[in-house]
Amino acid sequence: MPPLDRPERPRDVTLAPRRAVVAAEADVLVVGGGPAGLGAAVGAARAGARVVLAERHGFLGGNATAALVMPLMSWHTQRPVFEKQGVRSLMPDDHGPGHPVIAGVVRDLLEKLVERGGAIPPSLETGFVVPFDPEVFKLTALELLDEAGVRFLFHALASDALPGRGGPRGVVFETKSGPVVVEARVVVDATGDGDVAARAGAAFEVGRDDGLVQPMTLMFRIADFERAAFDGYARAHPDQWRSVHGLWDLVRTAAEAGELDLAREDILFFGTPHPREVAVNTTRVTRALGIDVWDLTRAEWEARRQLRQLAAFFRKYVPGFEAAYVVQSGTTIGVRETRRVVGEYQLTADDILGARRFEDVIARGTYPVDIHNPAGKGTVLKRVPPGEAYDLPLRALLPRGVDRLLVAGRCISGTHEAHSSYRVMPIAMATGQGAGVCAALAARTGRSPHDVDIAAVQGELRRQGANLGDD
Ligand SMILES: Cc1cc2nc3c(=O)[nH]c(=O)nc-3n(C[C@H](O)[C@H](O)[C@H](O)COP(=O)(O)OP(=O)(O)OC[C@H]3O[C@@H](n4cnc5c(N)ncnc54)[C@H](O)[C@@H]3O)c2cc1C
Repeated sequence: MPPLDRPERPRDVTLAPRRAVVAAEADVLVVGGGPAGLGAAVGAARAGARVVLAERHGFLGGNATAALVMPLMSWHTQRPVFEKQGVRSLMPDDHGPGHPVIAGVVRDLLEKLVERGGAIPPSLETGFVVPFDPEVFKLTALELLDEAGVRFLFHALASDALPGRGGPRGVVFETKSGPVVVEARVVVDATGDGDVAARAGAAFEVGRDDGLVQPMTLMFRIADFERAAFDGYARAHPDQWRSVHGLWDLVRTAAEAGELDLAREDILFFGTPHPREVAVNTTRVTRALGIDVWDLTRAEWEARRQLRQLAAFFRKYVPGFEAAYVVQSGTTIGVRETRRVVGEYQLTADDILGARRFEDVIARGTYPVDIHNPAGKGTVLKRVPPGEAYDLPLRALLPRGVDRLLVAGRCISGTHEAHSSYRVMPIAMATGQGAGVCAALAARTGRSPHDVDIAAVQGELRRQGANLGDD
């Protein structure tokens, strides 16, 4: 049976007014426990705020764990000239790593992950992306919160903003115990989707000019894969595998045999810290929006159909996968793009590709503009100039016309193209840290986040080890 579809003639019912339990009063409430939420909660707590983090799942990590999105994309500049001999680069057209431009909570997370055997540190060998284990990520994220003194509420879905003067004075959560409210001086929306900002009345944009967004992908992990056999195949067919993607001929053959029906022309997978495992980033569901329950339902349904085909394809066609099996798929399909909240500044592709600097920098990035085609096959990749990085300004985290609220992660203010770069997890975590610090200073001084002294925010971020590109 197909899933429930959007009703053709929707009918409303009126719900009875209801009361909610006030669970806590915080200086800073962070909604969402993904990379941005982690950065925000830790940043705010280290700046001295009483912080509560609320998350709809029963664990932390956001896409990194719930959607099995791996690896952490590179946060190093590209070297202008790089001798690739003998080096297995993981990024297409990689010029090689220069220097890291993100530190702070990202570096703390990485150190802990590596210490626990849950990540492979950046190196020439990995192309400076970071393969990690999602289960170790969950534990490590909890540890980061514990050490910072952040209190948290799980299984809490934010459904509304509690109106206050100029902006939200708290957030309403749906829970198994009924509606629960957390009150706060300042709220950081790290839901990825800008759920709280939208409820608080912030303006937002969705997608490119025609409204289409990047496709969704259900990620999965394949275990018992024979790396040597696959590497042998890739070496013997250099036209068929480029660092992390390829197998065009095998995909075509399977498609012609009616065994594979994908909205992409190749296979994309990444290594993990486990030598006999890969993370597959190949299902693709287009024309679906991650803030629409009907689309989400259809996308999960369609992506599982693709997963089933892919699992059989790997075993039948791809050397090294004869005995491999799907050991885990995402708890949820991975959503790349939904709301972009309109802020005091909107970051553009020109800012990114021109490596622009801003007076109110709170984080930096180097990841390319990377747009998986919203309408079908193909991916657009445009790089930041070699040796350079771009700034993310605090103004992109401040929703225009709404007070007491910051946004962080993939829902900050930017164009569709710019979003495709700053959406990656290390940058999301860094904008989170910037938002958390600004929120903590606003709560402490009683000022609006829009009026907090930017020098004080930057000073606190530097004290916390963030990289603002000072050198
Ligand atoms: C298929 C796919 C592949 C990708 N590949 C990579 C990659 O290889 N490397 C990389 O670095 N990035 C990659 N990305 C991008 C990256 O995963 C995300 O953009 C990034 O996770 C954004 O971080 P975030 O914290 O803003 O949002 P999220 O990671 O989405 O976290 C948001 C959190 O908020 C919670 N939440 C949402 N709504 C509510 C609510 N209403 N109430 C309470 N909690 C809520 C969610 O459960 C989640 O924990 C990929 C994304 C996708 C979808």
